[in-house]
Amino acid sequence: MDNREIAVGIDLGTTFSAVAHLDDLGRPQTLINAEGDKITPSVILFEGADVVVGKEAVKAMATEMEQVADCAKRDLGNRMFHKVLGGRQYPPEALQAWILNKLRTDSERQIGPFRKVVITVPAYFDEVRRKATQDAGYIAGFNVLDIINEPTAAAVAFGFQQGFLRVDGTATADQKILVYDLGGGTFDVTVMQIRGNEYIALATDGDVQLGGRDWDQRLVDFVAEEFIRKFGMDPREDPNTFGRLWREAEDAKRTLSARQKASIACDYKAQAIRVEVTRDQFCEFTQDLLDRTAFTTRQTLQAAGLEWTDIDRVLMVGGSTRMPAVFEMLKGLSGKDPDCSVSPDEAVAHGAALHAGILLARQQGKPSRFKIKNVNSHSLGVVATDARTKRPRNAILVPRNTPLPVTAKRVFKTQKANQKSILVAIVEGESASPDDCSQIGKCSVRHLPKNLPAQTPIEVSFRYQENGRLTVVVQVAGTDKQLRHEITRENSMTQDQLDSWRQYISNVPVEG
Ligand code: AMP
Repeated sequence: MDNREIAVGIDLGTTFSAVAHLDDLGRPQTLINAEGDKITPSVILFEGADVVVGKEAVKAMATEMEQVADCAKRDLGNRMFHKVLGGRQYPPEALQAWILNKLRTDSERQIGPFRKVVITVPAYFDEVRRKATQDAGYIAGFNVLDIINEPTAAAVAFGFQQGFLRVDGTATADQKILVYDLGGGTFDVTVMQIRGNEYIALATDGDVQLGGRDWDQRLVDFVAEEFIRKFGMDPREDPNTFGRLWREAEDAKRTLSARQKASIACDYKAQAIRVEVTRDQFCEFTQDLLDRTAFTTRQTLQAAGLEWTDIDRVLMVGGSTRMPAVFEMLKGLSGKDPDCSVSPDEAVAHGAALHAGILLARQQGKPSRFKIKNVNSHSLGVVATDARTKRPRNAILVPRNTPLPVTAKRVFKTQKANQKSILVAIVEGESASPDDCSQIGKCSVRHLPKNLPAQTPIEVSFRYQENGRLTVVVQVAGTDKQLRHEITRENSMTQDQLDSWRQYISNVPVEG
């Protein structure tokens, strides 16, 4: 096969990542990494001049925690990863690129060289984080065909498995499904309608700072507090002890998914304890985390305008849905047994591979097997001055959960007579206060005609596409002043920075 025709799907997870491709029959298959596993820990070790990604890097958390980067996905959108590594700070995009490099190297051993990829992101990622993910792909030397939402990818994999995609476009099933996706670092819930070969997102919500890691942390804290009570010292103070304790806690958490009790050992400064934890205790001190996901789930269903009786299936994805408490909570909420038929670790990568296959087919002029329709996960607006209070406020043009693509317009007015310029600041978020929203970008219309009266109408339109690209058009009424501007997000890297990281990372190959 021509190598350029291979496209793969990558689930770039906070704690684990997975890669899938389509086999000769068009079925998604997970690619195995160099260690023989289907999933690769998204953990990076800086060891002198070498960069090690995966299992070995996880082991190093017990002895060289200061050289290890984990959960870099949680820092996407910030300029730099929060920790100094080997005397240097890296942008989170660069760390993600090293993970992608490892995934590519391992996958290419099985399917040969490839460049075209689809990478998944939590549905709840904002534009800055989406762009940062796309940039990580670029730095890793990929041609990123698309960025798609993880729950959408999971729904596509589910639809494929159920046979909805084998029907050449004729509708054999119309189902509404709720995808509950609890991974290592993020939580997402999306209500989707599968209508024949169409995947339509109806509403989405989530939390980019909530995942299995938070459940681990509760176990770590539980043991650390026992340790303090007994020996008057906090084992979390030492990074390597913390790394070891975290690994023990994560292991115990997995045990508690299968058994009623587990024990966690901790030794620090010549003192040691072994603490037993029961499943009931674990459920008790993580109940608030689970409640947060239940609250968001209910809200999302409401935002979709649906009741539980309208939902045909509740689909569980993400490794953390293996915790029995998640199943029980969802069963209690929905009144039905959640569906565990897709592999929680592989579904997202499989859906991404299916989507990559569709995009390749489209590039080659072949008909699509299915269509995906998305909604935006955060409202988009501009900073306007409140007429009454004279304070800045977020004037929303595209409310969250609007089907994409969308064009929206709103008319604002100039404030002063003879105004020389207008600044349009675009923000993303639900709050009325622009300070609580993320700044997406700015554009200004300068050299306005002389003697423009106060209260001149200014029409601002947004064209927001499915790939997250936003075009802003500003038109000053009664004049030929029009500005068309494609937003480049603040916080994201310049092309020169991207190219220099791409060069740098290709010179520091990863080891598995
Ligand atoms: P993902 O990002 O979907 O790969 O999910 C990774 C998360 O799933 C990590 O926080 C793991 O600790 C968690 N996980 C994996 N297996 C289990 C299990 N058997 N019980 C509880 N959590 C698990």
